[in-house]
Amino acid sequence: MRELKYIPNSVCWNITSRCNEACKFCYRETNMKDLTFEEQKKVIDVLASVGILKLTFAGGEPLLIPRINDLILYAKSKGLVVSMTSNAILIDEKQLKFLLENLDWLTLSLDGATDEIQTLMTRHSKHATKVKEILEYASAYKKGKCRIKINTVVSKKNYKNVQDIAHLVKKYNVTRWKLMQFTPLRSYAKEAQSEFEIRNDEFVSAYNKAKLAMGSMVNRVEATCSNDIEQETFTVFPNADVRVAKNLQEKTIGNLLRDNPGEIWARDGREYKQLNMRTKFLERDVDLIA
Ligand code: SF4
Repeated sequence: MRELKYIPNSVCWNITSRCNEACKFCYRETNMKDLTFEEQKKVIDVLASVGILKLTFAGGEPLLIPRINDLILYAKSKGLVVSMTSNAILIDEKQLKFLLENLDWLTLSLDGATDEIQTLMTRHSKHATKVKEILEYASAYKKGKCRIKINTVVSKKNYKNVQDIAHLVKKYNVTRWKLMQFTPLRSYAKEAQSEFEIRNDEFVSAYNKAKLAMGSMVNRVEATCSNDIEQETFTVFPNADVRVAKNLQEKTIGNLLRDNPGEIWARDGREYKQLNMRTKFLERDVDLIA
């Protein structure tokens, strides 16, 4: 039975800590072992059984999971709204068709409108070109109901240019565009903090420029400041650990394969019904930190 008080609507599962990219701003957990396929299915069973509505496969890079397509279909068969966040490297035409026909949301990482900005952000040199090719293809593809979202990490390297992404959002009918303030939460991002960190007012300035550039489609852009990263959703790690983060401090509150998931949520004590509603107020929150 879904207990609205404690069950979040949306869960982000960092299903692997492995990645085929080497972004210096990355805060993924490193060196965690992937679960087996059967264990991964069991995690989906647990999430569906307690009343989670939406599951996002993230990472690392989720397309490195050998049977990720089977897991997407399995999650869909359980009635979940299914989303994936990918760096796009492994998305060829065949994979893209599969994702567009079977996902509800495909989120692409894009931190600049040009390859030059992406290189500054330490992604590979053709990243923006690849993402634009995918956007072009997806906007013309008629099968499936997959909506496209763009995630943009805003840092010292790109905050003066992020508004240039707006024309891509509008041109390719991207449904949501999320700006995320660089967050030195763990691993590489902590090491590179001085290189990437921006002040709150710089982040807000970038967000305001992005909103201006979006014009009448301003409702498609949203923002998350670093203190809120991983607080809007419920984050699961490759080994099925559940962690919560507050003010850049994390704690593990349980494991979906070992513990009663209802107890995990209650242990955290946050009332997710309210927390989920906060996404509606993100714009106001960002204005408040200026
Ligand atoms: S930011 Fe994303 S694409 Fe870059 S290394 Fe981290 S998980 Fe991989």
